[in-house]
Amino acid sequence: MARLTLNNVYKRYDNTEKKLFGKKKAENDFAVNDLSFSCKDNSFIGILGPSGCGKSTTLRMIAGLEQITAGEMLIDEVRINDLQSKDRNIGLAFEDYALYPPLTVYDNLAFNLKAKGLPAPQIKKAIDRVAPLLKVDELLTMKPSALSGGQKQRVNIARAIVRQPGLLLLDEPLSHLDGKMRQTLRQEIKRMHREIRCTTIIVTHDQIEAMSMADTIIIMKDGKLQQMGTPLEVYDSPVNEFVAGFIGEPPMNLLRSTIAKTQDGFFFTFTASDLRVQVPARYNNLISDGMILTLGVRPVDVLITEKQSSTPVPVAIYENFGDERRVSVRVGEDLLNLTTTAEAFYKRGDIIHLEFNAEKTHLFNAETGIAIK
Ligand code: ADP
Repeated sequence: MARLTLNNVYKRYDNTEKKLFGKKKAENDFAVNDLSFSCKDNSFIGILGPSGCGKSTTLRMIAGLEQITAGEMLIDEVRINDLQSKDRNIGLAFEDYALYPPLTVYDNLAFNLKAKGLPAPQIKKAIDRVAPLLKVDELLTMKPSALSGGQKQRVNIARAIVRQPGLLLLDEPLSHLDGKMRQTLRQEIKRMHREIRCTTIIVTHDQIEAMSMADTIIIMKDGKLQQMGTPLEVYDSPVNEFVAGFIGEPPMNLLRSTIAKTQDGFFFTFTASDLRVQVPARYNNLISDGMILTLGVRPVDVLITEKQSSTPVPVAIYENFGDERRVSVRVGEDLLNLTTTAEAFYKRGDIIHLEFNAEKTHLFNAETGIAIK
């Protein structure tokens, strides 16, 4: 187990000029920009963000495969900036970390331990401990070419943990697997983490993967940390519009709205739309007549109501997925989407009234995108 801390870490690739060839040079060209976070012993961190946001670079810097441009990285109290990868006591399972084809699974698992000079009985003990955790105990005599994609990934992870690292780093370990296999392996990695008690960081672009396995989520965009919190915190209290729109499927509705004050209280109004929805009373001291903001509300928190507290609107799209139904109404140029598990059946053009789950609406500054609280 280990505690990892990053203090103001930056990364600029030396060949960035070349990579930006033909594009306007960005305001800054840091792949990772002033990244600071710290993870506790035995925590499971998921780094999440769109492609190119700096996730892999972050992991590779922690692994010692990439130099950092500025900042400081510590494992426990030890500054690791200048330590070689092999001296950082980390286990790596990267997407492109191939197994050695001529070696059996057993020898693949044993490889690093042999290189460290461990005696054969101790190597066997280590492999016997780890192999069942990742269900590779049946595969030990096989060569990698005979393994399925899922089996290779299991062996890959088993190889990373067999030497009992303080820190386990997983980069998109499930990306080549099909849906069912991903789900199974997700559950197994989680169980494995509970058993080996090793601080683990997983990098993924798949929010389900991160949210289901990790106890702490780090969301990045353009090299910068946006929010760090439990899966529930980033889902329920996004700090900005980016996080709000990134976490959750289907995504949160984010609608530009102008507040209108009437005798009946405040209403959200929308450009080129008749829709007016009552503003939950808890916002009354944060808003004012004419204020422009972004309203965020998850599809599951838009409710079809019998109450006449909003303008009637026609259904634009109705989809039935069996276990849930999706209804969309047009709001100016945008669609406002809602999902419901109620047995509600509509056709295009049916008139409905909407209400927002007051506790679950989010307001964002229209210019900065930062949550208004
Ligand atoms: P992610 O893992 O989130 O997809 P990366 O860390 O791979 O993002 O990339 C972050 C940024 O750094 C991207 O703009 C990418 O093009 C750039 N980058 C990644 N690797 C290199 C490299 N070896 N040389 C130059 N630029 C790179």
